[in-house]
Amino acid sequence: MSKVIIKECKDYNLKNLIEKINDGIDSLGGWALFVKAGDRVLLKVNLIGPKSSDSAAITHCEFVRALTRILKERDCEVWIGDSSGGAIAGVAPTAQSFRASGLEKVAKEEGAIIKNFDKEGVVEFSPKGKLKEKMYLAKPIYDADVVINLPKFKTHMMGIYTGAIKNVFGCIPGLRKAKYHKMATTPGDFGEILADIHECGKFHLHIMDGIQAMQGDGPTAGEVYQANKILISNDPLALDVVAIKMLGLDIEDLPILTASKDRIVGEGSLDKIKIEGDFQSIPRLKNFKLPAFQRGARLRNFNILIPVINFLHSKPRVNLKKCKNCNVCVESCPVEVIDKDTKEINYEECIECLCCHELCMYKAIDLKRSIIADIALKFYRGTYR
Ligand code: SF4
Ligand code: SF4
Repeated sequence: MSKVIIKECKDYNLKNLIEKINDGIDSLGGWALFVKAGDRVLLKVNLIGPKSSDSAAITHCEFVRALTRILKERDCEVWIGDSSGGAIAGVAPTAQSFRASGLEKVAKEEGAIIKNFDKEGVVEFSPKGKLKEKMYLAKPIYDADVVINLPKFKTHMMGIYTGAIKNVFGCIPGLRKAKYHKMATTPGDFGEILADIHECGKFHLHIMDGIQAMQGDGPTAGEVYQANKILISNDPLALDVVAIKMLGLDIEDLPILTASKDRIVGEGSLDKIKIEGDFQSIPRLKNFKLPAFQRGARLRNFNILIPVINFLHSKPRVNLKKCKNCNVCVESCPVEVIDKDTKEINYEECIECLCCHELCMYKAIDLKRSIIADIALKFYRGTYR
């Protein structure tokens, strides 16, 4: 039976964080089960782009400081790694992200080593999934003795939620990520790629920063929600299944997790997951806002309704009043359909991956539904007047 530890933690006070995380790991059997002195331990953070830790878009730098401190005390060498999404001037903005997040400073102060996955080389592997394409994962994943996944608790416009399963996507270095977005245009197919990475990588432990979560239009344009939770497990799917239940969702509502359940990346059935820590049952997060297009909808039959949801899809549109002309969206669009000068989008070619919305750091990409789609959604929700 898989186990998920849920700890209540109200802020990023270092002493509290260390205490709560250590308590949680004790409930899983203790640190000795996972690391030993001399190990090179990679902390795989969520560093989606050059955002501050207070934005709730990334794993908070103090959360990472707490893990680094714990592991250094156990005589481990600590690496902090990720590859950000999108591109600025032809390269992923990972170096800027390490600076903006405060992680570069934390690494310096705590004696950890930054691993920018875009510059560390790759290891090739042949995934077993249905997309049949060679993949390349950042080399530090294999060079480290232990990999600890540190996802952020966030909503996601395409996948509804993003957590432990999705966080490994950053193990694909640089601009290669766009290629996989192009190959997998549905949440289900994208979930196949995530299952591939979990099968071919080695992720020993998953510790979710759910203290300041992101609600609304995540993973970057949402708002902070004070969830006050740390979730810990050695099973990434079990952790996600518990996290989404805190939002009132089930695995059937999230096609992005289906492949991981089918391919037994982890435990997908709640009745086979034991909850421990500060809670004996799964607490609900009250008034948590899902992404706008999901709000108010009953999601239980989401799989059946995928064709409807696809029909109701939102189209991205650049809000020129907010746009800073950084061209991240232009360079990051997997099918190159955003005009560099006018920022107009060729909807004939757009694959609606929403990467542009996800990667715009200025919240300058709005999502618009057609009037017909709006009416259809209201019928679906039973709110049409
Ligand atoms: S929409 Fe956002 S990402 Fe695109 S150019 Fe404007 S500010 Fe940059
Ligand atoms: S314009 Fe369309 S295809 Fe390009 S990034 Fe945005 S949603 Fe994806």
